[in-house]
Amino acid sequence: MRTTVGIVGAGPAGLLLARLLHNAGIDSVVLESRDRPYVEQRQRAGILEQGTVDVLRAAGVGARMDREGLPHDGIELRFDRRRHRVDFPALTGGRRVMVYAQTEVCKDLIAAQLADGGPLLFEAEALAVEGAETDRPRVRFRHGGREDVLDCDYVVGCDGFWGVARKAVPAALSRTYERTYPFGWLGILADVAPSHDELVYARGERGFALLSMRSPSVTRAYLQVPADTDAADWSDDGIWDELDRRLEVDDPHWRLARGPVTSKSVTPMRSYVHEPMRHGRLFLAGDAAHIVPPTGAKGLNLAVGDVVTFARALIARRDTGDATLLDTYSETCLRRVWQAERFSYAMTTMLHRAPDATAFDDKIQLARLDRLTSARAAETDLAEAYTGFPL
Ligand SMILES: Cc1cc2nc3c(=O)[nH]c(=O)nc-3n(C[C@H](O)[C@H](O)[C@H](O)COP(=O)(O)OP(=O)(O)OC[C@H]3O[C@@H](n4cnc5c(N)ncnc54)[C@H](O)[C@@H]3O)c2cc1C
Repeated sequence: MRTTVGIVGAGPAGLLLARLLHNAGIDSVVLESRDRPYVEQRQRAGILEQGTVDVLRAAGVGARMDREGLPHDGIELRFDRRRHRVDFPALTGGRRVMVYAQTEVCKDLIAAQLADGGPLLFEAEALAVEGAETDRPRVRFRHGGREDVLDCDYVVGCDGFWGVARKAVPAALSRTYERTYPFGWLGILADVAPSHDELVYARGERGFALLSMRSPSVTRAYLQVPADTDAADWSDDGIWDELDRRLEVDDPHWRLARGPVTSKSVTPMRSYVHEPMRHGRLFLAGDAAHIVPPTGAKGLNLAVGDVVTFARALIARRDTGDATLLDTYSETCLRRVWQAERFSYAMTTMLHRAPDATAFDDKIQLARLDRLTSARAAETDLAEAYTGFPL
């Protein structure tokens, strides 16, 4: 089998890249180890930056997002029993975000690719990327019980944190930067209308809570929990009680609406960057190269930024013969990646209570929140980062 771009992984990065290349008349093959229902139902991110929304529309896969997604003009911060709204358009010259689940983004991209795109093979597991330093890199993979080889001009590893593509970068050339956190997020989906029409980020003595949503009738909520927590240890009532405590404010009108919990899971928190993001003709994109803790809602959006950068670079190479953008892919992406790492780290450490936090640490967190909510410059920095760094 032969193609111009071999794409390993059909998460948002791989699927969007296949669409961008198809629209530009460049052929690709996507190899995905899981089956289609698994990829379409995996619950993960849900906040799309302005730039991501624009890219999906321009790629021709924004129609359902525009019908069913929920545009949001701000978030609420809660601390010290106070509420403070951050108004994105007012602070950023009109930028906003869209609540539209990653599952739905993937469904839209899969439907488009299967309708008129290049091959998208499910249950096709990449075993290794070989020859990245040559003009003919290849992916060895297993599909339908037998091994095969995909010969390519370029390989893009979009296979997430646990994938194989990153392993093709020689250890001597790899640098990794990592931080793990001593807590995770217990996340739920519940069949109840969201209690507030924007996301609520709450910092409290008992830890962090986030109130979010997937649709006008489905609430998504998270609690900071110890890293080794088993979701099964939490009863539904116990989760609602704890959310109630952490979201408490001095506002007689506030009330948390409860409903049947339909899903419960614990997500670990990690910051991770692999440099470089390119080795020869192998390019890494999305979670294959970097992980952010979900507090900044950046994971999916970074994946989009990487593949847009790669697609632009390859189109420039084809149209002008100039490979500069391909050669600078890693530097271009990493600049944006590190800004997202910085923001996600800042949000995480400002809002979560570490197990060994001292009274001093508490005071610093409150001072950071006080500054954010009283100085327009600080608030603008948050709004710009949350709605997205330029693509
Ligand atoms: C549990 C969880 C919850 C999250 N919640 C949020 C959130 O609330 N907000 C947020 O912004 N971000 C969140 N994220 C992060 C966000 O979902 C990711 O950043 C995003 O999925 C990255 O997309 P990707 O395409 O790079 O990688 P992925 O979505 O991980 O896709 C990689 C794909 O590659 C496939 N694959 C792996 N190995 C192989 C192989 N050998 N051969 C072929 N295919 C392979 C995988 O099956 C997968 O489909 C969450 C992540 C996780 C894990």
